[in-house]
Amino acid sequence: MNLRQAAEMALEALEDIFGKEKKDVGAINALRQALTPEVTPEVPCKTDPRAPHGFDRNASHSADRYVCECEGWEPPRRQWVGLTDEEVKYLTSHFDWRAPKEQFVSVIEAKLKEKNGG
Ligand SMILES: [Zn+2]
Repeated sequence: MNLRQAAEMALEALEDIFGKEKKDVGAINALRQALTPEVTPEVPCKTDPRAPHGFDRNASHSADRYVCECEGWEPPRRQWVGLTDEEVKYLTSHFDWRAPKEQFVSVIEAKLKEKNGG
């Protein structure tokens, strides 16, 4: 076993203890930095400001090249918000059913737009 493999084992052990997301442990940061190859990723980095960047050890190992953390990252999707039972009850009981049915569709559409940020 060479020094690099030993360092990788040490990093894994520390990550197991502190958790992979822990960012403020000096020894973890030092090992990560020392183990990060001084090469740029082959796949261009994502430009989204929220994208994480850094050496993705597991992905790089299986892909046999430098893989940046941002490569497998997707921007978080906004959760679709539907109508609650109460809202359905309210909308159906307050609608004038003598009006054209298309109007009811518009009411629902407007309500859903409102709940989902326009
Ligand atoms: Zn990146």
